[in-house]
Amino acid sequence: MDIKLSIESGFENFKDRFDHFPYGICLIRKDDTLTIDYLNESAKRLMLDVNPPFSLMAFIDMKEENKKAFIQKHSQDWLMNINFNMGKQLLQLKCTQMPELSHYIVGLLLDISEYQSDEAQINRIIIEQTGITVLEWQHQLSRYYLSAGAECFGFYECMNPYKFNFLKKEDVHPDDWKEVKQTFLLLQKNENQAKITVRLKDNDHSYLWCHLTFFAMRDKEGQIDRMIVTIHNVDEAVKNRQSLEYWAEYDPLTGYYNYGKFKEYARELINNNQDKKYALCYTDLKNFKFLNDIYGYEEGDRILKYWADKLNLVSREKESFARISSDHFATLRTYEDIEDLVSRFHHSVHELYKYQSATNKKFPLEVAAGFYLIKENDRHSIEDMLDRANIASKSVKGKPGSQYGFYDDHLRQSVIARKELEAEMFHALKEEQFEVYFQPIVDIKNGDRVTAVEALVRWQHPLRGTIPPNDFIPLFERNGFIVDLDIYMFEKVCQYVNKNKITDMMISINVSRVSAFQSDFVKKYIQLKDQYQVPDGILELECTETTVVNNPRELNTIMNKLKDYGFLFAIDDFGSGYSSLNVLKEISTVDVLKLDRIFCTDDLQESRNHAIISSIITMAKKLDMKVIAEGVESLVQCDILKSLNCDYIQGYLFDRPMPISAFDKKYRDLKN
Ligand code: C2E
Ligand code: CA
Ligand code: CA
Repeated sequence: MDIKLSIESGFENFKDRFDHFPYGICLIRKDDTLTIDYLNESAKRLMLDVNPPFSLMAFIDMKEENKKAFIQKHSQDWLMNINFNMGKQLLQLKCTQMPELSHYIVGLLLDISEYQSDEAQINRIIIEQTGITVLEWQHQLSRYYLSAGAECFGFYECMNPYKFNFLKKEDVHPDDWKEVKQTFLLLQKNENQAKITVRLKDNDHSYLWCHLTFFAMRDKEGQIDRMIVTIHNVDEAVKNRQSLEYWAEYDPLTGYYNYGKFKEYARELINNNQDKKYALCYTDLKNFKFLNDIYGYEEGDRILKYWADKLNLVSREKESFARISSDHFATLRTYEDIEDLVSRFHHSVHELYKYQSATNKKFPLEVAAGFYLIKENDRHSIEDMLDRANIASKSVKGKPGSQYGFYDDHLRQSVIARKELEAEMFHALKEEQFEVYFQPIVDIKNGDRVTAVEALVRWQHPLRGTIPPNDFIPLFERNGFIVDLDIYMFEKVCQYVNKNKITDMMISINVSRVSAFQSDFVKKYIQLKDQYQVPDGILELECTETTVVNNPRELNTIMNKLKDYGFLFAIDDFGSGYSSLNVLKEISTVDVLKLDRIFCTDDLQESRNHAIISSIITMAKKLDMKVIAEGVESLVQCDILKSLNCDYIQGYLFDRPMPISAFDKKYRDLKN
């Protein structure tokens, strides 16, 4: 017997300890056979001297699945009580486990024949087992009966046999007292049975959830003569359910309502307080991902909890808020006027800043908030309104510091339009909906001849007509599609040069910052230029001043390579941003400087403006660059630029951007 050998020492020890124990003890093998390998002296007597080994199955009837559960259970508690007859006796086998005897179930054998005959004992067992307390009160006999377990309740001390005074106000939770009173009233009238679930005070003065059932028995006159009450302690079950309900409604991180509950509650508040003006606010902690990365998620969670506490702090009655996800929060606010909303926004933001100073952290804790003002009879769902508030918050997210914005329909239209454009862009490129326009550039030093053009894109949309680049270029720069569009435009220009055998005209093509810093940018552009056999000195790439200023060295390297392959390089929009003349010195590769059109305003004549343009042009000349003035709309402007030694002009004064065919007709046919 392998099992026995391996547990020999535990087994022998056990025997020594229990052989003469006053109660019956047995060891049952923990396998399918349920063999009893050992009975102590007392157990042998109870079992009428049947000697082990024998199977327990000879005396009991156990279903196969119960048997499995029985032998697989691992617990030091009582596993199971099994009752069986042995001669005239009723025996009970209480089973447990002991760690030193892992292959056995330890059984305690009791003779319960006596218990069986005594009804009170049975009741006691039932009550003990079920946790139900029974109270019986008999009016005529002026007596009451309380079963075991009643002593744990507060009412136990003051029971009165002459008067049914079970459950007084002080025995019940204040919130539940009304329900108890109503039940008594009903019973007094004509109801014979009633059930309630209320909190009863226990003898520690805390409350237990109990399920009470009242049975009233009446005399001939209909008066209550006898009352039986069962009290079932359901505290654990109710608390479990309450905690489930809690987690279904609360956000574990902040401890306040979760988004689902918020939506429900916000709707309720709005509907029930029609006299109030409400606004929904969407807030987003800026740079939160960055904070998480630097300080770790725990600190991130602390910040979110802190922010939730502050939102709670500034909340008024009949308002609510919740975390939607990550660092995004929704707030429902009442307001008098816009100033009221704004000042509360500043207040909450101010509270947030305190975290930074309190924790000595060097990161900026900033908020982007968007408001949606709920109109009277607004039919939108909470989600839809929050979407709109979110649009407003996104519209201010790019600005520095904590910001807020208000939603209006115009904002939403533009978001929708953007989304639509995004959905259509790939298809549009494939369908060649993007068209190259040329705007002439005029050589004002040599008889106002058109010697160059700038290629500008137009989206010829089948439904919306011509869409100007400012409506989609910023979007494409954000989503990266600009890379595809720039190369497409570049290839179209190469094709044009190839087809028309251009040798004497310069064509400027815009290159976005995103495109210029692609790793295969140089390779691709050179390859296309070769493929279409474009002569050197014709293609000019324009990068904006901001691109240059931000990465002068990198750009210089890129452009240097391209110059070796016959490309020219222009700085676009010079003077529009943080232009610095010093940058010009740092980048040696620039052939052309394009003066931004902000210089071509009506006050070009003004001496200050004059001086600035004049010094830029002088500087450019020293560095061997040509200067093109953009956005020239009047003759006066043109004359001044001429006097300041500007080389070229581009602007509506001369001509607007036009389709290539129109350009060819107007300018190239003339030449030929
Ligand atoms: P940009 O590169 O500064 O192009 C010059 C813009 O000024 C063009 O606007 C042009 O039509 C406009 N313009 C020309 N003369 C005048 C004038 O006298 N007065 C006024 N008010 N405006 C004038 P457009 O074509 O709408 O292009 C806007 C911007 O879109 C361009 O500014 C450029 O940054 C971008 N863009 C256009 N095509 C492309 C492209 O293929 N790729 C990239 N990356 N950007 C492009
Ligand atoms: Ca340009
Ligand atoms: Ca420009």
